[in-house]
Amino acid sequence: MGRYPLCGRLFCGCGQRFVPGCSTASGREYVSLCGCRLWPLDAAAIEQRVYAYATCGASASGFSASPALVAAVLGQFDERIEVGGTLDDIRFMPPT
Ligand SMILES: [Zn+2]
Repeated sequence: MGRYPLCGRLFCGCGQRFVPGCSTASGREYVSLCGCRLWPLDAAAIEQRVYAYATCGASASGFSASPALVAAVLGQFDERIEVGGTLDDIRFMPPT
């Protein structure tokens, strides 16, 4: 699961789970099968945002953490992540 640390915790606004995909030039992305989104989520972009949230904005001035550190932080992140229409429309929902 190292290459997709958010697998299983990313959800579309409709409740559909995102699954790993790899059809773009960037190589890594999360896709939803519900059809709400026209494009898949760029994995690095969403992981960067979740990492910033998980570390309370520690990386707000720049994304310089090593991939291994990011993977470790995201691997321990246990909140449900709902993604709306854009990457800036993300809601974090603590586990109940
Ligand atoms: Zn959906």
